[in-house]
Amino acid sequence: MQLEDIKTIGVVGAGQMGRGIGQVCATAEYQVLLVDVAEPPLQEALSKIRAGLERAVERGSITRHQAGKVLALIRPIVQLDRLRDAQLVIEAVPEDLALKQALFAELNRICDASVVLASNTSSISITKLGAASGRPDRVVGLHFMNPAPVMRLVEIVRGLETSERTLHLALDLAKRLGKTPVVAKDVPGFIVNRILMPMINEAAFALEEGVASAEDIDLAMTTGANHPVGPLALADRIGLDTVLAICEVLYQDLGDPKFRPCPLLRRYVEAGWLGRKSGHGFYLYEASGERHETAKGTGSAVWGGACPPAR
Ligand code: NAD
Repeated sequence: MQLEDIKTIGVVGAGQMGRGIGQVCATAEYQVLLVDVAEPPLQEALSKIRAGLERAVERGSITRHQAGKVLALIRPIVQLDRLRDAQLVIEAVPEDLALKQALFAELNRICDASVVLASNTSSISITKLGAASGRPDRVVGLHFMNPAPVMRLVEIVRGLETSERTLHLALDLAKRLGKTPVVAKDVPGFIVNRILMPMINEAAFALEEGVASAEDIDLAMTTGANHPVGPLALADRIGLDTVLAICEVLYQDLGDPKFRPCPLLRRYVEAGWLGRKSGHGFYLYEASGERHETAKGTGSAVWGGACPPAR
């Protein structure tokens, strides 16, 4: 498969990453088949894409006509089998090895043998997904950053058996999508999350130990280290379930105790505090996804004593 042969891209998983990747592909004039397990997440994805495009029109960065064209190119579907019409597939389902392995085996059954299957995984081994797919030479990591329409980087991850041809197709596609690709070895967390997750995890430990409030930890890193967003606010944006899943992969696969996930993070996920997407994480959020202006961060200096602030 050459880049010119790709007209339709399948994106599996219409959560915050899948919908962003779908928008990026449609903006580059690809037909997009956006797949999820049910209609509600697909409708939510479309309305979020529409709202994002509307804001871009208001800012003057795109015309209303362009926004309409992008939306028209995204087709929401619940039947995975429809991906037989795609010439490339990007998987963006939750960060769960068994789920992704089953999906890659299924995609191998559905898609033409020439089709490259890419994963947006943040940390899971591309080699493992390649083995599950039955076509390891045509499996590659295509790791977009969040939010995908805004962030320039895409990490291209080469599994043990990823072919040179697949690697170059992934590089060419990333450039065609207007992104800056970097190639990373297939090691847990690749480049960005190998460095970013220990920082977020350490911020959670600092909160748990009562070093400072969530607001002050974030303020220290934005004003003291010039980060555009603090680590705890960033964790809420990524999703605490995703952050924990990545930390688990780093801890287990690298076998180094320095990657041990913070117990406070684990406890928040157990409580269903997943960050922005559940309305509650280190901070509270409105239904619109905006930060609750008056609420304080939810962290407490007492282990496990973190309690929700009054709404
Ligand atoms: P999410 O929870 O927002 O979305 C996942 C979506 O996948 C949901 O809509 C869910 O219904 C759907 N899904 C679950 N099982 C499915 C299946 N079998 N078939 C089709 N759809 C299915 O998760 P996310 O934050 O978008 O993360 C998705 C992937 O992207 C993960 O591998 C994650 O590590 C990676 N990633 C996340 C971020 C981030 O900041 N959140 C950044 C880069 C990469």
